[in-house]
Amino acid sequence: MKAVVYQGPRSVEVRDVPEPKIEETTDAIVKITTTNICGSDLHMYEGRTNVEEGKILGHENMGVVTAVGPGVTRVKEGDRVSIPFNIACGSCRNCERGWTSFCLRANPIEGMDGAAYGYANMGPYDGGQAEYLRVPWADFNLLDLPPGDEYENDFTMLSDIFPTGWHGTELAGMREGDRVAVFGAGPVGLLAAHSAVIRGASEVYVVDKERDRLAMAEKIGTIPIDLSEADPVEQIMDRTGGTGADCGVEAVGYQAHDHTGEEHPELVLDNLVKVVRSTGGIGVVGVYLPEDPGAVNEQAKQGRIAWDYGSFFMKGQHMGTGQAPVKRYNRQLRDLIVAGKANPSFLVSHELSLEQAAEGYEKFDRRDDGWTKVLLRP
Ligand code: NAD
Ligand code: ZN
Repeated sequence: MKAVVYQGPRSVEVRDVPEPKIEETTDAIVKITTTNICGSDLHMYEGRTNVEEGKILGHENMGVVTAVGPGVTRVKEGDRVSIPFNIACGSCRNCERGWTSFCLRANPIEGMDGAAYGYANMGPYDGGQAEYLRVPWADFNLLDLPPGDEYENDFTMLSDIFPTGWHGTELAGMREGDRVAVFGAGPVGLLAAHSAVIRGASEVYVVDKERDRLAMAEKIGTIPIDLSEADPVEQIMDRTGGTGADCGVEAVGYQAHDHTGEEHPELVLDNLVKVVRSTGGIGVVGVYLPEDPGAVNEQAKQGRIAWDYGSFFMKGQHMGTGQAPVKRYNRQLRDLIVAGKANPSFLVSHELSLEQAAEGYEKFDRRDDGWTKVLLRP
């Protein structure tokens, strides 16, 4: 079958690879109908990780089940399914509490809790930017979708970024009527903003510098804040009479940069501490990395950043972090889509064939005008 493999920094290629097979009795094989390129893939694409050459990429996957192992009883051949990016066993201490993103069994790498498809350090699993994908613990992990091809571009956001955006608002402790500040208008930030609107925010501010992304933020009923025009904290403070936001979401990650393009991994956390009121919450879904002496990025090399913890403490704020436990939210988010109350497909800018993956990666990575979210159709 054809699959997108990592070749080295800024290089991916579509190659012929062996089709996946049932390896454990609880596995299923899914024929992929849509698989997305994610901002998280860019950490690998830009050569910031130790991902091995030849790794099949892709953790935002959906499709139709073509085979199940003898231990799979709920899911059947022919079922249309969304595949959460987290691979979870369903029965460890963390899974039992709904923290599938920190499954204690799925990742054999010492010290790493939580596994994913096609990702550096997240276990030996192949990704789904391919024609077929092996899904471990299929009964537990797969979310069933209505048959057919309706809502394909909405449902494809259920494997990662819609639940991740929602999780950002949850980690921030968002309540109805809150004023919410979202930093980052990438796919994750935009879906955090969409989530905040659905959850009844009074006002949502979305900070970025990419004009096309800010325009999308405006289209979904939120207030765009262009950081290249003026300090985003001052802009939000001015518009709120100096009171700021009740809570905030970090949807940028360690590759945060200032308006000149220089990397400043502490910048967004500092801005959130300033803009969120005292006792308010901050949900961090943008990725920060532990110490890795081989990394190319300073934050990832040291595993630490000098952010303003003192002000965070003095303001009595709270913070939640980490990979999103997709299963905790995807059922309800699917139902909101079907009920017409959520439409995360507003993000989709490009629908490409698998063969066009290299172009998709290149343009999405450069944040070329209009390249907000790329879907691949194997
Ligand atoms: P993205 O890189 O397309 O979006 C990031 C956006 O942040 C860009 O539009 C960029 O212009 C903007 N930005 C940069 N510096 C900024 C600053 N100082 N202030 C405000 N905005 C700034 O990626 P994405 O797909 O939206 O993902 C965002 C982050 O979320 C990444 O770190 C990704 O790895 C992470 N992520 C986390 C999870 C999770 O489960 N926690 C899941 C998916 C993605
Ligand atoms: Zn993703």
